Amino acid sequence: MAKLATQGMVRAMAVRPKPKPARPRPGLKEKARIQALFDRFATTSEDPRTELKFQSPFTLVVAVALSAQATDKSVNKATEKLFAVADTPRKMLDLGEAGLIPYIASIGLYRTKAKNVIALSRILVEQYGGETPLTREALMALPGVGRKTASVVLNELDIEPAIAVDTHVFRVAHRLKLSAGKTPDQVEHDLTAIVPKPYLTRAHHWLILHGRYTCVARRPKCETCIVADLCPSRMSFL
Ligand code: SF4
Repeated sequence: MAKLATQGMVRAMAVRPKPKPARPRPGLKEKARIQALFDRFATTSEDPRTELKFQSPFTLVVAVALSAQATDKSVNKATEKLFAVADTPRKMLDLGEAGLIPYIASIGLYRTKAKNVIALSRILVEQYGGETPLTREALMALPGVGRKTASVVLNELDIEPAIAVDTHVFRVAHRLKLSAGKTPDQVEHDLTAIVPKPYLTRAHHWLILHGRYTCVARRPKCETCIVADLCPSRMSFL
């Protein structure tokens, strides 16, 4: 196990050089604005959680892996039936790629995702005795599990605070001028550095929910936005 973790660590380090911050360190005034932003988000929901349905670390990993470029709603619809028959790596492996495809065929990139889910299930059965390892290095060594998926899993299970950057988080972070990063890694790096520590675990969810329901891509709902007075982009959309 230690050897496997080391190999995974080497691989993760090799594929992901530390991103350079795209944002200068905030001054006092900016720090106060950022604090106020997250204080405000905290009033909307004390302990926000993923909208993906799961029953175990394994089903969470699978659900998050399936959710790439797909809505949580479409994934939940598929996994409701899938997890009823295959909620462990062993059962997933027994189901096989051909058996899995009909359950997830409504989700984008389903063929690649089916391959990855079966491959990762095989690794969990053969190398981890059917358990799901809950370290970033081990998770990122699984097929189809990138940094974002690992971050969502570790954050959701309260193992490691992490801000996974999806399209919503990326957009909201830019509009709120929390980051000018050109890549998700840069934005993640900026957010991790500036989000007040007590809010690190929940920031990911607040930003996603804000992007999903209020600060939407085409016509953000600035007139009802709870952080409008703290948003430098508001005037661009009014
Ligand atoms: S004011 Fe508008 S642009 Fe700014 S965060 Fe709110 S919805 Fe988004």
